[in-house]
Amino acid sequence: MTLKDDLWYPSDCCLIDGEWRAPIGGARIDLVDPSDGGHLCQVARGTDGDIDTAVKAAQSALDGEWGRMTAVDRGRVLTRIGQLVLERTEELARIETRDVGKPLTQARNDVIALARYMEFYGGAADKVHGETIPFQDGYTVYTLREPHGVTGHIVPWNYPMQIIGRSVGAALAMGNAAVLKPAEEACLTALAFAAIALEAGLPRGALNVVPGLGEEAGAALTAHPGVHHISFTGSVNTGSLVQTAAARNVIPVTLELGGKSPQLVFNDADIDRALPFLVNAGIQNAGQTCSASSRILVQRGVFDEVRDRMAEKYRALRVGPAMSDMDVGPLVSSRQKDIVNGFLSRANDLKIAGQARLPDDLPQAGAYVAPTLLAPVDADHALAQQEIFGPVQVIIPFDDEEDAVRIANGTEFGLVASVWSADGGRQMRLAKRLHAGQVFLNNYGAAGGVELPFGGVGKSGHGREKGFEALYGFSTVKTVAAWHG
Ligand code: NDP
Repeated sequence: MTLKDDLWYPSDCCLIDGEWRAPIGGARIDLVDPSDGGHLCQVARGTDGDIDTAVKAAQSALDGEWGRMTAVDRGRVLTRIGQLVLERTEELARIETRDVGKPLTQARNDVIALARYMEFYGGAADKVHGETIPFQDGYTVYTLREPHGVTGHIVPWNYPMQIIGRSVGAALAMGNAAVLKPAEEACLTALAFAAIALEAGLPRGALNVVPGLGEEAGAALTAHPGVHHISFTGSVNTGSLVQTAAARNVIPVTLELGGKSPQLVFNDADIDRALPFLVNAGIQNAGQTCSASSRILVQRGVFDEVRDRMAEKYRALRVGPAMSDMDVGPLVSSRQKDIVNGFLSRANDLKIAGQARLPDDLPQAGAYVAPTLLAPVDADHALAQQEIFGPVQVIIPFDDEEDAVRIANGTEFGLVASVWSADGGRQMRLAKRLHAGQVFLNNYGAAGGVELPFGGVGKSGHGREKGFEALYGFSTVKTVAAWHG
């Protein structure tokens, strides 16, 4: 089955105001299959004119049917989208697998997560409300929770469906109208999602999708004066550009910028339970995960055991084309492969504790990197400080709790952290002391948890997505003070 068999919508168009439209400039971008370097299809190269039309369509939706819809009905539409997403699980998974090189099982999990976001935010749409506030005699005061208006969503290529689910889902639940700029390397499922949303009854203009280059369509979206909120997931550098553009228009931003997330393994940890989490959190999606755990901090008493057992797992990892559904597929592009290999070329002074083998028959033009475990690594080494965004983990030894906290908090990031220990007091102490937006105790990632607020501190960004917190972020509070004597 070819990609064309799965594309039931015009994938080289933008979706604006409920219509499939060729980009105004007429230009297209060629997509490459990262598994073998072959040509996949073309997508629209939207520019500022398309963004402008999309923002205006979103505003019209707010002034029209979408803006008048009750919260209950918005919730019903979102829930229906979730159902239709699930019905198309296999098509969506195959599209994503070919587009970004994600092994099929992992792509299926992304589809299920997208559906789950729609169910969650569909159910939550009518459950966020204002308050009445006791005030001076003669007044009745209450608050209204209102949408920002037009929300801009800039989504990266690593988890397109999950990130669309958590940001667009929450924004629509609160009654915003969205303009989505997916990554140029990963816009096929964004367009598929929008097609499904229309089919589910989402009014025209409530969700508009403009594929294109970051510096063209993305920059135009962040600078547009008709946008009232921006949510961005991606690199620190681009996030900083997005925040600067938002500052010019004085609008709020949510930034999720990745990390260098640690797992802390103490001498008293249940290592049998920890092991799969330690490795999977580094190699899932070939390490291209904002909340990947790229630093494993291990207390000296169990250092050799953890290193050796992780190394054994690395050697057993199967790497192959994404459609063959191995443990690890290619990276998203040869550009990303070059970035990761650039990091590895700076690891000549480090010991490889374990490495997966790249099979001899892998397509030459595929973007493959052998999953690599480095140990021991000094906490200040570049590979222990910077986000690599590939299947590379470092193991850093530590002496005691104090030392572990110092190392764990010793990067500019703070997205996720976990503690593996049987000591309940230590778990509670570290949950407070670790700089991170999420702390896991004797687990990692909580299976993605759409209900769990997610976001970073420091250079990992600010604002929270997922759970009810996202609904607060995608809305604003109006206070009404009525004097009646
Ligand atoms: P970027 O941050 O540049 O891209 C993320 C999104 O921003 C994409 O949709 C991109 O569009 C868009 N974008 C790019 N430039 C602009 C701009 N000037 N204004 C508005 N939007 C823009 O990440 P890269 O894809 O370049 O990846 C580089 C590194 O970023 C990775 O190695 C990784 O370290 C990190 N990263 C982190 C992610 C996370 O989940 N936190 C996700 C992706 C990357 P387009 O791709 O079409 O140019």
